[in-house]
Amino acid sequence: MKIGVLGAGQLGRMLALAGYPLANRFTFLDTTGHPSAGIGNVMIDTDQRHLESFLANVDLVTYEFEHLPVPLVQAIEAERPVYPSSEAIRICQNRAEEKALFDRLAIPTPAYRLVDSAEGLEAAARELGTPVVAKSVTEGYDGKGQAVLRDPADAADAWRSINHPRLIVESFVDFVREVSIIAVRGREGDVAFYPMAENIHVDGILRYSLAPMPDLDEAVQQRADGYIRALLDELDYVGVLTLELFQCADGSLLANEMAPRVHNSGHWTMDGAVTSQFENHLRAIQGLPLGETRARAPTCMVNVIGREPDPAAVLAIANAHLHRYDKSERAGRKLAHINLVADSHAELLDKVRACAALVPDAPAPEFSFEGTSGES
Ligand code: AMP
Repeated sequence: MKIGVLGAGQLGRMLALAGYPLANRFTFLDTTGHPSAGIGNVMIDTDQRHLESFLANVDLVTYEFEHLPVPLVQAIEAERPVYPSSEAIRICQNRAEEKALFDRLAIPTPAYRLVDSAEGLEAAARELGTPVVAKSVTEGYDGKGQAVLRDPADAADAWRSINHPRLIVESFVDFVREVSIIAVRGREGDVAFYPMAENIHVDGILRYSLAPMPDLDEAVQQRADGYIRALLDELDYVGVLTLELFQCADGSLLANEMAPRVHNSGHWTMDGAVTSQFENHLRAIQGLPLGETRARAPTCMVNVIGREPDPAAVLAIANAHLHRYDKSERAGRKLAHINLVADSHAELLDKVRACAALVPDAPAPEFSFEGTSGES
């Protein structure tokens, strides 16, 4: 099967690495001019002039990047099967559409308002009660295009700094932890759920993901499974979908955002689950049976951002797996990740601390369950 991938970053690279054992071949279509996949056949097409030769090389199409022109994806959809569909991209590109879908499916979210002026932002902050987070409705990712307002009087400054015609304003959630649920749906509607991960973000960028969580109530996992299943079924979705959530003290979950693709918070599955998110995405889109999603052992993913650690020092940690993306160093750039696998969560935390000491600028790894009886 010849698979076309829209986008050509590290997610595409890891999809290809998972697809070679299935005899898949990959052609990437990069619309940014900065591909980094470094694998397969990469076509750079910033002005949409090479679509025909891309289509001639592929049997079906998926994507690893959702900030794509929707008309382009629709044009491809008219010629080849595209999984997940362009509708998933359209919704995920717009926080207002995404929240409306969550509302329609009764998936709880932080209280929110949509505003289109500094005055509207101030009124929303007053109504919701500060602190609030204001986010541009489109074009935001990794915490970009956002501002926290501690007081409604901050509205004018926040409006200027975000510099976007439409914002979503959300109550600032006092969460216990940030979590994500990743699930995969096959062409026949079969669904498999990964164990939820705890995610630590700093400045909006993911730094650590750990799964399974030692103190996660089974009922909370089931609640998350129910939310993501509703999304998958509503969108008649095929492939891997990610839903990021805030977990509150009472165990309730509030949806933050979703990504219609394999996700950084699922990289732990490459070494910690029976079937990786990448392999399962490829199985799903090709109509193959889904693989088991169970965790093999407590696993933590450590992101490498901006500067790389000494590979030999990282690999000297027992059961550490280094995944480098073959990119040059640049501040804020995702360059690699390390998966640490252990027999117990206590041992895992020791390894995470040892690894964090080797990774330049790694923040202190502080998980919600540390020091609780859930740690074993
Ligand atoms: P986002 O781009 O929406 O994923 O936001 C980036 C990060 O900002 C999240 O991972 C959270 O750490 C934080 N954040 C976003 N929205 C909220 C909120 N409503 N309450 C508290 N923290 C938030």
